[in-house]
Amino acid sequence: MMMHETNTFSTVKTSLPDFNPMYGEEISDVLKGTRSGVGGFIDVLERENVEMVFTVAAGATPAGPINHRDYRHIVDTILMGVKDQKADGVLLCLHGAMVAENVPEAEGVLLEEVRKQVGPKTPIVVTLDLHGLISEKIIQNCDAVYGYDTNPHIDMYERGVEAAEAMVKTIRGELKPTVAHRKLRMLPPTINQRTTEGPMVELQKEARRMEKKPGVLNVCIFPAFPYADVQRAGSAVVAVTDGDRKLAQSLCDQLGEKMYGMRQQFLKPLTPIKEAVKRAVEAPEGPIVLADVADNPGGGSPGDGTEILRELMRVKAGSVGVAIIKDPEAVAEAIRVGVKGTLKMPIGAKTDTFHGKPVKVEGMVRTITDGRFIHKAMAIGVPADVGRTAVIDVDGIEIILTEKSHAPNDPEIFRRNGVEPTDKKILVLKSRGHFRAAYEPFSKEIIEVDAPGLTSPNLSWFKYTNIPRPIWPLDPV
Ligand SMILES: [Zn+2]
Repeated sequence: MMMHETNTFSTVKTSLPDFNPMYGEEISDVLKGTRSGVGGFIDVLERENVEMVFTVAAGATPAGPINHRDYRHIVDTILMGVKDQKADGVLLCLHGAMVAENVPEAEGVLLEEVRKQVGPKTPIVVTLDLHGLISEKIIQNCDAVYGYDTNPHIDMYERGVEAAEAMVKTIRGELKPTVAHRKLRMLPPTINQRTTEGPMVELQKEARRMEKKPGVLNVCIFPAFPYADVQRAGSAVVAVTDGDRKLAQSLCDQLGEKMYGMRQQFLKPLTPIKEAVKRAVEAPEGPIVLADVADNPGGGSPGDGTEILRELMRVKAGSVGVAIIKDPEAVAEAIRVGVKGTLKMPIGAKTDTFHGKPVKVEGMVRTITDGRFIHKAMAIGVPADVGRTAVIDVDGIEIILTEKSHAPNDPEIFRRNGVEPTDKKILVLKSRGHFRAAYEPFSKEIIEVDAPGLTSPNLSWFKYTNIPRPIWPLDPV
């Protein structure tokens, strides 16, 4: 497994420790029985009495590109395992939008080298994230692709199972998968790529319909991750058939044309900061969620944008909970002055220049914690660690300051730090959409705000130099 969604606009570099790499049998010990893609591989291969050789499992949260040496370490570990064991087949759990220093095509290059190592006859089957960026190199160097069909991605396990089943059948000569793709000149922001509403609902339905045709193994849609300034940017459709390349290509072309025709539906209007804050303040009842979709740590943004907070302070909004502002320096200062002490300093916007300017605050330190909690929503039971955390109160605006970036998709981030989110009139959440699962039930309204940030749905914020042009929605097409 090699997984990273690289935001090439991020100045935060990714390195090996961020991946928490696991090697050899440890992978099976940890991932067997989980609802992960590798968990799916293991269940099928065990059931089918296939001998498994584990190489490396490396996954990191989204941020900037991976340094070249650490990328090579992951690739070489996979290659070494493949070489030493003379594998009959190779199963890889990849993301698709990974970028390494000097290697814009991290997955494509890996697959090319694996193909070289195993030769043309050994099957290579991969799973990819729905946000993966499909390229010629990826498609040419594998036999089948299984992309996630859901967003939020709740089918990683199922796609892992399908990929492993296809692998076993191929090795046994029962299947001869062939894969085709169609790249689209569109770069939809991630804001409306969910598979429970918006254009993806109809497109997924069509893909499932196509999969019912004889000889069709899999049809998957990649709206893709738009925050990677690389040549293979853009949406794609991929189809896998049992030996019928022409059919695979025609399915991609059909579905690709349909998707391109629906492109406008991927856009969603955002509310300007001032208007959003005004609406939240004037609302008769809370909580009103101000979703800072542009500064979503789940998409590689640092989580220290200040512009919504600045406006809330300007209008003296009161009764506000802000999750989060990442600022290790401010956390250290809060700990120094202690609970009930006064924190007086500029906070936030210290990672880069894309998230506003630091905002001067003077507030009382309410709580200090170790920042560790157990998820009660989404990844239930999984521990979270946002680093040392302090809550400061600036005229009723309670700000959660953390040492690490973190998408506050679970209200536990508030409760663990002594703030009851349901009591607040306004909540500021640095998240694109995953927060909805837990917050929607008790929120009166959710307003998606047009603030600056590395995951802004407003793509005109970004200076692209490598993507193919013209491309929708940046160019008139
Ligand atoms: Zn994804």
